[in-house]
Amino acid sequence: MFDTLSDRLSGIFDGLTKRGALSEKDVNEALREVRRALLEADVALEVVRAFVEQVRARAVGVEVLKSVSPGQQVIKIVHDELVAVLGSDAQTIDLASVPPVPILMVGLQGSGKTTTTAKIAKRLTEREKKKVLMASLDTRRPAAMEQLRVLGEQLEVPTLPIVEGQSAVQIARRAMDAARLGGHDVVLLDTAGRTTVDEALMSETAEIEAVAKPHEVLLVVDALTGQDAVNTARAFDERLDVTGIVLTRVDGDGRGGAALAMRAVTGKPIKLIGTGEKTDALEEFHPQRIAGRILG
Ligand code: GDP
Repeated sequence: MFDTLSDRLSGIFDGLTKRGALSEKDVNEALREVRRALLEADVALEVVRAFVEQVRARAVGVEVLKSVSPGQQVIKIVHDELVAVLGSDAQTIDLASVPPVPILMVGLQGSGKTTTTAKIAKRLTEREKKKVLMASLDTRRPAAMEQLRVLGEQLEVPTLPIVEGQSAVQIARRAMDAARLGGHDVVLLDTAGRTTVDEALMSETAEIEAVAKPHEVLLVVDALTGQDAVNTARAFDERLDVTGIVLTRVDGDGRGGAALAMRAVTGKPIKLIGTGEKTDALEEFHPQRIAGRILG
């Protein structure tokens, strides 16, 4: 097991008894450790480079406080910078619009999109007492439609009845009509999964976006896919008006590096994190906690 970043940073400064300002040499040595730890946490190189430069700019010449060691001081600077990049506040799904509020779920196949749709439905129903309707727009994979229907049945959240032969855009329209008639507060539209960011599905999703006018477009990404997750996020963000990210499988991402990369590259808030397979394994994203995890 690796030492934590905090331990390593403290170690560098252990032999250092003199007080005063942090010298460029001390900071450089500490930043080598920061860089190594972030790369081990699978953060993309471009993100690591930018982050290290930000810390350098803040750290060199900083007076070391009497009450703390230079190591602790650097750890604090790195921590604060991590929180600044991750976004300082916890974010939630924005429902401030005329009901039924459409939320579009997008992402690669296997990212956890359908499971996350059900998790969000459960959360909004139970915690916020919203009347939710879920609809699968995955016309290419009947199994995906069935998966959402079964999840809805388990959670007692209604799903739009499946009608064969309709296009995704037609289903989206039907979902909005049904929600208006049924007095639903929120409509979760689960778009087709895809194995790559392909053009046909991307233009279909853009069309759905134009018809349903979603209040939120939530991109679901698997934290364990590292650099691929970052590339995926960038590709989706270029074509769709992504409003937030849901990071799944954070339960398997020990160091929390994916959150940092995702946030730094897209600039979009991480709204929720998936922490397991069960439908209640969905949590708010707390930048402070992830920063703590990265530092170890
Ligand atoms: P989709 O193809 O994007 O709709 O993906 P699914 O929702 O079908 O999820 C794929 C697999 O990932 C399923 O076995 C889920 O149970 C699992 N999964 C989804 N979210 C999480 C998560 O946050 N943690 C873990 N450990 N597994 C998850």
